[in-house]
Amino acid sequence: DVRVRYSPSPTGNPHVGVVRAALYNWAFARHFGGSFVFRIEDTDVSRDTEESYEAMLDAMRWLGLTWDEGPDVGGPHTPYRQSLRHQHYADTAQRLLEAGRAYHCYCTPEELDERREAARAAGKPSGYDGRCRTLTDEQVEAYRAEGRQPVLRMRMPDRPITFTDLVRGEISVDENNLFDYVLVRANGHPLYPLVNPVDDALMGITHVLRGEDLLSSTPRQLVLHEALRDIGVASGPLPRYGHLPLVTGDGNRKLSKRDPQSSLQLYRDRGFLPEGLLNYLALLGWSIGEDREVFSMAEMAEAFDVTRVNSNAARFDLHKAEAINGAWLRRLSVDDLAERMVPHLQSAGVLADPAPDADLELLKAATPLVQERMTVLDESVGMLGFLFAGDTVELDEDSVTKVLKPDARPVLEAARSALAGVDAWQTEAIEAALRAALVDGLGIKPKHAFGPVRVAVTGRRVSPPLFESLELLGRERTIARIEAALP
Ligand code: GLU
Repeated sequence: DVRVRYSPSPTGNPHVGVVRAALYNWAFARHFGGSFVFRIEDTDVSRDTEESYEAMLDAMRWLGLTWDEGPDVGGPHTPYRQSLRHQHYADTAQRLLEAGRAYHCYCTPEELDERREAARAAGKPSGYDGRCRTLTDEQVEAYRAEGRQPVLRMRMPDRPITFTDLVRGEISVDENNLFDYVLVRANGHPLYPLVNPVDDALMGITHVLRGEDLLSSTPRQLVLHEALRDIGVASGPLPRYGHLPLVTGDGNRKLSKRDPQSSLQLYRDRGFLPEGLLNYLALLGWSIGEDREVFSMAEMAEAFDVTRVNSNAARFDLHKAEAINGAWLRRLSVDDLAERMVPHLQSAGVLADPAPDADLELLKAATPLVQERMTVLDESVGMLGFLFAGDTVELDEDSVTKVLKPDARPVLEAARSALAGVDAWQTEAIEAALRAALVDGLGIKPKHAFGPVRVAVTGRRVSPPLFESLELLGRERTIARIEAALP
């Protein structure tokens, strides 16, 4: 049975690179009908926060990446927060020590520094030199008498480590580049190199799909996995590893956690749909087929094959992301799209919270006018704000200077009386009346005729289709705004 995991550390905001990893794991699990485990790696008390923990869960819920085991839902390996699993790590560390797979190291940081410097100066590898691998009882006694507290180090084998990465193919690391590394600090605190593979082993993880930045830790983790099986802490085959390509930002630099462009929240605030954002993130390293860029997560799960993930870095392209999101906006039903715009209109103060039913009806009626034009929900504020502004709308200054010049006055006056005389207030009749009065009556080109009306009524030079907008706004408001805007 396929078992994969998403195991973020709750430090800061979820970022798009991590979400892409979550998505690929999710798709892999769903493809094989396996299990998607959500584990929180909160072993760094100085950096982990409860706020970030909540944000990690909230992000996954918003994205709709459902997990089979983990926080909220539990599972056979509960708890799924490493801060609550200390006993597992302490027990495992003890067994590794007793089996001789790990050993106590009494070297002080100063001693380590000194020897590292000397090795460097001599042009030798500067990893741990193995001094405490074979201490005699007397030496241990002497260190203890000095009051030294040991760290626990993993004993690395004297052979190269080779494995087949699901994305990058065969990877081999020479024994001269593998050093005995620290599993547990002197104060008893277990470290990532111990807790991450131990949990993968205890939770029966079969495949580890994660960012390329962790590739260098994989040989060490494989050695630990072998040891855990030898000493009976775990059973079954070693996990397979696949390292996902880096996500880069502007200038092809790695998109780091600190880059504002990497924050998932940014995309939520701008009004990306979860469907659109996930679809775009899926494309960062994978494709469903030659000419298809828009697909659902169910379609992705069906087609996903990690061995077809590209190992080249993938650049996060905002315009492309918006285009994909726009395609998803157009796929929504009118009611659904209207509903999803509401929170954005509310946080901009365009709609009250809760919004009156009449406003919601108006929003629904206006939605078809903008559905083709938007790429993110936040644009609804600029496009539709005028509908909810009452008798006076705030006029965009630049539009006023360019369009509502003194010679626009006769145009607006003619528009006002033409609109006052329209029988049935409907798009066709409104259009006919304005054309007759302005284009035929005043003899001006449609662009110059309708531009001033658009700015007067919507406040901007760019708006949803004009005549439909006037119909939705109603005669009284339309006329009141034209009067208010007379230059
Ligand atoms: N908690 C680790 C991180 O956030 C994940 C490590 C892994 O996926 O193996 O970097």
